Amino acid sequence: TCDAAGVIAAMRSVAQVVDAHRDELVTLDREIGDGDHGENLKRGFTAVLSRLDTAGDTPGAVLKTVASTLISTVGGAAGPLYGTAFIRAAAKLGAAETLTPESVVDALQAALEGVVARGKAELGDKTMVDALTPAVAAARETSGSIADVLAAAADAADKGAQDTVPLVARKGRASYLGERSAGHMDPGARSTALLLRAFADAAS
Ligand code: ADP
Ligand code: MG
Ligand code: MG
Repeated sequence: TCDAAGVIAAMRSVAQVVDAHRDELVTLDREIGDGDHGENLKRGFTAVLSRLDTAGDTPGAVLKTVASTLISTVGGAAGPLYGTAFIRAAAKLGAAETLTPESVVDALQAALEGVVARGKAELGDKTMVDALTPAVAAARETSGSIADVLAAAADAADKGAQDTVPLVARKGRASYLGERSAGHMDPGARSTALLLRAFADAAS
């Protein structure tokens, strides 16, 4: 089982992973965007770290704190999108004291629905939706522990991010490049895959 303390520990791992991959995300965003994605997320998750000790007493409360912190610190396109993802996941978990594999799947699904409601991207538009959509599907098809569900989600998100390489962007800054956006991985899809891997590793 995983309670608020487990989610707080997982968020510390996420912050570490974002820090370790800051330059990689900046490089990806330099190729088809404005080069700030790694710095935006690093700023956001550094702020999350500073608030974790008093983040909340339930998994949902912790994720709500994460959401509001990301919304007020990340900026750009990704800030409101990740913020909405965490708000929706928090709302789906409600006041439950612990997570279950089923509630984790439902929270991931709610996060995806929030990103789509906010950003209106469809599958194949070369955005974080291309990592999160297969992740939710894989999580839904996996029976087992929270770690099993999250590992399946992370594996599918890795593949989804990889599969954005040949795509032409139809949403966000990269879409301004038209055909020239093809041949590069979408930075937001990559960061989504990194976040899910960090959650999976923290749960195992
Ligand atoms: P900005 O483009 O404002 O500099 P970031 O660089 O932080 O913001 O984030 C860019 C990422 O945001 C993209 O790689 C993409 O994955 C994601 N993104 C942009 N627009 C959308 C959208 N409408 N729906 C889903 N994801 C989006
Ligand atoms: Mg950017
Ligand atoms: Mg920007």
